[in-house]
Amino acid sequence: MTHDILLKNGFIVTMNKEKTIIPEGDIHIVDDKIVEIGENIKVPDPEYTVDAKHHLVMPGFVNAHSHLQQYFRGVYELMGDFFETNLPLEGYRRPEQMETLGLASCAEFIYGGCTTSMLVYTYPNGYANAVNEAGNRCIIAGDVEHVDLEKLKHGEFVYLPEKRDAAVKRAKDLYFNWHGKADGRITTLMCPKAPDMTEPEVYLDFKEFATEHDLYMTTHLSQSMREYRQVKKLYGKTPPQHLYDLGVMDEKLSGAHLTYGTAKDFQLIKEKGMAILHCHSVESPLIDWIDMGIPIGLGTDDYYHDMTDLIRKQRNGVIARGSKTGGYLGMINGSRRTTRPSFYKMFELATRGGAEVFGIDDKVGSLEVGKKADIITFNLMNPYITPTRDPITSVFLYGMPGDIDHVICDGNFLKKNGKLTTIKMKEALTKAQTTCDQIIDKFFAEHPEQEKIWREKANQ
Ligand SMILES: [Zn+2]
Repeated sequence: MTHDILLKNGFIVTMNKEKTIIPEGDIHIVDDKIVEIGENIKVPDPEYTVDAKHHLVMPGFVNAHSHLQQYFRGVYELMGDFFETNLPLEGYRRPEQMETLGLASCAEFIYGGCTTSMLVYTYPNGYANAVNEAGNRCIIAGDVEHVDLEKLKHGEFVYLPEKRDAAVKRAKDLYFNWHGKADGRITTLMCPKAPDMTEPEVYLDFKEFATEHDLYMTTHLSQSMREYRQVKKLYGKTPPQHLYDLGVMDEKLSGAHLTYGTAKDFQLIKEKGMAILHCHSVESPLIDWIDMGIPIGLGTDDYYHDMTDLIRKQRNGVIARGSKTGGYLGMINGSRRTTRPSFYKMFELATRGGAEVFGIDDKVGSLEVGKKADIITFNLMNPYITPTRDPITSVFLYGMPGDIDHVICDGNFLKKNGKLTTIKMKEALTKAQTTCDQIIDKFFAEHPEQEKIWREKANQ
């Protein structure tokens, strides 16, 4: 463990509220914290000096909404039916495989500069073990959905008490077993999965639990038309109105997606100080949310966890879509000329924004004296980035995980000179590949019709 690091001559984007940028600056780290930021910092005898010349230095990403779905890459993306493929395939995972798979997930988060990830998953223990080993930071929840998925295939919602009780226990056990562990790098939150998949009693129970233990809550909200219709049918309201009336909507709740949110929904969210976790929906009115002052985090959600790709696509989606309330300058033949949201704003949402959503912005999300040393550096010396007048713009538009040379979390190097330090990446990925092959082979052996469809799609 390195306890004294001097990072020299970087293009430092602090992401603090004053938007301080130091074009050629230094950061001194002692143990897990930043002790000084500025120009020409003198440290007599640092244990390690990082030459950050030609690097953009910024806070590690706070990935505000993710799952571990990447294990079935190469299958999921090709198959059309969520109920016939995705859900049954996920049912073939076993909790004991999660340690192997979790380490591969940590490798991905770290490689791409996500020093903090909020993660919702069915078997979170194995992942928490992996985080403990890998050195990154996570806010983790065991989600609770308790519908009969077989019946849901045919559009029928039947809620199962045994399934609910087991998931609730798993979620609460996670708090007792992991909250505050790994030097505080692992924290937990409560996650009723979605208002159509989870009954109101669970929301209320979790709210009570969260209040008692000072935890945040998160949920999927207005994510799908199926959810929207079911909540309307059951409660005669939109999903956000349902949660508002239940009394669980407040500044400690975040909702992912809001794809089908209405103007009234957004007003309720604003009124209660609730946050929105913006993921892959380019249809969502991001600029309107920003203008309303709703707290926003950005989450990868999906099969790969590259925040640079996410924020690029989201912004381009906003450009293509425009905004209900203006702020849209225009797009000329798909060009990158536009004003909002600015590149800087997107990076802000991907760092300090996410930290604020989960109430950890006193520790992470910006580079400031006294805060945790969660820092990433993008190498600008690539022909697709340099020359540039503005490194922020260029990293935003053209940067990728492979450009991240250093990832420091809690004062420790997790990636150094482009290589992971706490995870043997080749070994971790090889083991994950073997495990995933076993899972998918078994699934295909028992669902030959699915394998047939997959083969046709993969080879077309
Ligand atoms: Zn999600």
